[in-house]
Amino acid sequence: MPDKYGDGPSAIVVGGGPAGLTAAITLAGAGLATVLVGMRPKRRDNRTTALFAGSVTALETLGVWPLCAAQAAPLKIMRIVDDTGRLWRAPEVKFSADEIDLDAFGYNIENFHLVAALEQRAGALANLRIVEDEVRSVAPHGDAVTVTLKSGAKLSAPLLIAADGRRSLCRAAAGIAVDERDYSQVALTVCLRHTRSHHDTSTEFHTPSGPFTLVPLPGLRSSLVWVLDPAQAEVIAAFNDAELAAEIERASHSIVGKITVEPGRGVFPLSVATARSFGAKRIALVGEAAHVIPPIGAQGLNLGLRDAASIGELAIAAHRDGSDIGADDVLSAYEKMRRPDVGTRTLAIDLLNRTLLTDFLPVQGMRGLGLYMIDRIGPLRRAVMREGVQPAAAQPRLMRGEAL
Ligand SMILES: Cc1cc2nc3c(=O)[nH]c(=O)nc-3n(C[C@H](O)[C@H](O)[C@H](O)COP(=O)(O)OP(=O)(O)OC[C@H]3O[C@@H](n4cnc5c(N)ncnc54)[C@H](O)[C@@H]3O)c2cc1C
Repeated sequence: MPDKYGDGPSAIVVGGGPAGLTAAITLAGAGLATVLVGMRPKRRDNRTTALFAGSVTALETLGVWPLCAAQAAPLKIMRIVDDTGRLWRAPEVKFSADEIDLDAFGYNIENFHLVAALEQRAGALANLRIVEDEVRSVAPHGDAVTVTLKSGAKLSAPLLIAADGRRSLCRAAAGIAVDERDYSQVALTVCLRHTRSHHDTSTEFHTPSGPFTLVPLPGLRSSLVWVLDPAQAEVIAAFNDAELAAEIERASHSIVGKITVEPGRGVFPLSVATARSFGAKRIALVGEAAHVIPPIGAQGLNLGLRDAASIGELAIAAHRDGSDIGADDVLSAYEKMRRPDVGTRTLAIDLLNRTLLTDFLPVQGMRGLGLYMIDRIGPLRRAVMREGVQPAAAQPRLMRGEAL
């Protein structure tokens, strides 16, 4: 399809992380001339992402999933175990994907493999130009946004998708403020080998410092996200591999047997942040440029992929109508599509995390009662499971398997 904006791109995506790559593939795959500007990460991301069913469907529809499916492990069962040792403890809750007629809630994959598959797909699209550079300044003006790169080159387009992460330069250029709060918690991440099968089960132990979550990887491997208070994290992160393996085995009650830790640890300070608007001045925010939530319940990038699919859907529809793809009405439709999904999930995860940290007995009791009800009341359990993997709020078309 010829590009109505002449030689310049129709859209610029800033940020080559998973959200930016997905947005660029969505736009270019549907025929829009797109430029992705991204910097290579300085170090390998050793985290993993649990992708829920809708995200996997979208990646399948975009031709990405076949490139990385072999590196992903299914999540068939999710367990929540109260390991707080407190007086009012919640019952163990076990969710099984077959209760809601799914083979798996989703798949867990190392970010490194996911990003490699996205890059491979992006590299094969004729409408997508990838520029490895840093955006130094962003200037919205009239009917376009102009970015200036470190190399001195300038690019302009009627729509800019800001996927430049939590410290987004593009968001600042759009004049969008952020509501942000730091938790006094950090997440320690590491991949593990173990001697017993994980049985396609992720287990989230709720401890007084936060969740300790084992998520399956293919074979006898799992990833660990261990939320700790900063002082504890400093001590544990300094352990040698054998000491760390022993500590993890103790904290996991040996459910996956003897543990060996793989090279590469990550330490992530936790915070919650939500942009007050998801788009202004021809700039749409996706992924962590729009929202940051703690790694509890594996929601962050699943939200980011829904952002990318939503702005892609709206921009492509405007392009096909011959209208301005960066116009205010496109950005306000994007805001309406994304706000309820982002808002409810941020609230739920924030509440769950806070009830875990509190020493206030009645709140601990309420949390226990909530989990007890989820455990015992079948329709409530299934509603919670469905909402976790496929939100009731408007799902973008890609998440339903419809190509744009
Ligand atoms: C411990 C942990 C575990 C997690 N587990 C899960 C999970 O299981 N499931 C889930 O859904 N989510 C999970 N998340 C959340 C998920 O990791 C993030 O949502 C995701 O990585 C954000 O992707 P992004 O593309 O928005 O941002 P990023 O990955 O931060 O990418 C931003 C990119 O923009 C580039 N950039 C920045 N500024 C510029 C510039 N000026 N010019 C050019 N490029 C620029 C950066 O180099 C980077 O490549 C987890 C998070 C943590 C901390």
